[in-house]
Parts: sequence; structure tokens; C-alpha cells
Amino acid sequence: MPLKLTVLGSNSAIPAFGRNPSGQVLETDNSAYLIDCGEGTQMKLDEFKIKKSKILVIFISHLHGDHIFGLPGLITSYCLGGRTKKLQIFGPKGIEEFILTTLKLSYSYVNFDLVINEINTEIASEIYSDHNVMVEAVPLKHRVPTMGFIFKENPRRPKLDKTLIEKYELSKEQIVKILGGEDIGIDENWFLAPRMPRSYAYISDTSYFPEILPQLNGIQVLYHEATYDEDKRNLAEERFHSTSVDAARIAEGCSCTKLLLGHFSSRYHSTEPLAESAKTIFPNTECVHDGFVLEL
Ligand SMILES: [Zn+2]
Ligand SMILES: [Zn+2]
Repeated sequence: MPLKLTVLGSNSAIPAFGRNPSGQVLETDNSAYLIDCGEGTQMKLDEFKIKKSKILVIFISHLHGDHIFGLPGLITSYCLGGRTKKLQIFGPKGIEEFILTTLKLSYSYVNFDLVINEINTEIASEIYSDHNVMVEAVPLKHRVPTMGFIFKENPRRPKLDKTLIEKYELSKEQIVKILGGEDIGIDENWFLAPRMPRSYAYISDTSYFPEILPQLNGIQVLYHEATYDEDKRNLAEERFHSTSVDAARIAEGCSCTKLLLGHFSSRYHSTEPLAESAKTIFPNTECVHDGFVLEL
């Protein structure tokens, strides 16, 4: 399965119009990565039929409540559900104190391996990698230390072309030799080119911050917060958020193929006008909603 994105929450601070605060999940065949965990995230996981147990790692962009208030509930559900798998959490300084204090004061306990990693929010760096993906954190410009996350699928190995195995009726020994790079005396191009590795960037919350463009270069799909429409630019600047036009400028600057907008202010019932403003600069723009799915 290619990387599959499901948006669990698409609103900013206050839930409104059926939109929850921030939460997203990226899935592969056997694992999943949760990005931010606003209030209600675990209910949305159930609603959208994503197995909680698949989540190996949680990435938290910053400590504002609309990005972390779902964490204690999710962690205690793991305890009650008898989780045995390790769970890793990455977030800014303070995330460990938030989690451990909440668990302690609510008389909760953790009966599985919970590893909390506080990341340096001053510099861009690779913070995580496994057999599926590599994750880079990039500093954003918000009222509190905030990181964006860039997910890059590991390069795939070229696959042996099965039609050639049949054509030449190759023996197991010959196949082993080909896989080992040995010559078997037949001049053929044995391998199919692998598909391009997928990539996804999660940028929330931030003011317009073109300093992140070098890190976003070559990204396939960009999610960028768009709390406000362009007529509320003053408010966006004052509160260190972006307008949908700001997001479109970043998308244009990094030449991604698709822009997703989210983290909407609860003043907007319909988010379509925000997409329309962004499309004047970056046409392939779409507003996400809770339950939005994209296969990268
Ligand atoms: Zn927020
Ligand atoms: Zn925030």
C-alpha cells in the first residue's frame, strides 16, 4: 500500500461544524503514524476504522491544546486495551511533563513501553526512520515552539521482472545469481524501475514562513494550515497563523503537486472560499475535512 493519509480533525482551536481539532494519520501496510492528537482523536480513529494498535509513533507539532488534548485519552485506552507494542512520541520540550503529569494526576499507569522524545525545535533535523519512512522536523513560526514534519518514503529496491523469469524459464540458482548482481550469460534488463518514493509535509501552525521552502523542495503533497481567509490577514499575522493565500505561496514556492488546507477557524461554516482564494495562486488546492482520505 502506498502511504495513505486520513484527516481526523481539520479545525483550529474550537471544534465546529463537525470539524475536530488537529489530528492526521499516515498508514502503510503494517504500521501507522499519528500526527498531532487533538481532543477526540481516538473517537475519529474508530469512526474512520483505523486500528489504533497500528500506530507505532506519534508526532506532536506543538503544545497548544488543540494538538495534544487527545493524547492522555489515547494513551490510557492503550493501557486498558492491553497494548504490548512500544509507542514512541516525538514533540517539543514539555511534552514529557504534560503526558507524565496527566497520567500521574489521573491515577493512570502505563503497562507498555512508552518512549517520549523531546526534539530540538531550533533546527531542522531527521528525527525518526524505520523500514518504511524517514521523518524530518522543521521549525515553524508560531507563538510557541512548533515543528512541521516531512515524511519521506524510503527508496524502493528495483523488482525482478517476472515475465523474464517465465520467458527464459530461469532456475532458482539463476534467479539467486541475478539478485546477487551476477551475470548468467543472458543479456537482459532483469529489473523493473521502482515507483517513486512518496513524500508528505505537515505544516501547522505557523505564520507565513518561506524559510521552510528549502526543506520542502521536491515534496509531493503539502498540508499547510490556513486558519483564515485573506480578508483576515491582520488577524493571521497577529496570532501567528496563515491565510490560505500564504499556504498557496508556500505550495507554489516548493513546487509540490498538491496542496491541502486545514486548521480552519471556527468562524467559517464553509471552507470553500478559502480554497478559492488559494487557487488564484496554486490551482491544485483542496480543503480537507474530517474523514478526508488521500492515497499518496
Ligand atoms: Zn492549532
Ligand atoms: Zn497553535
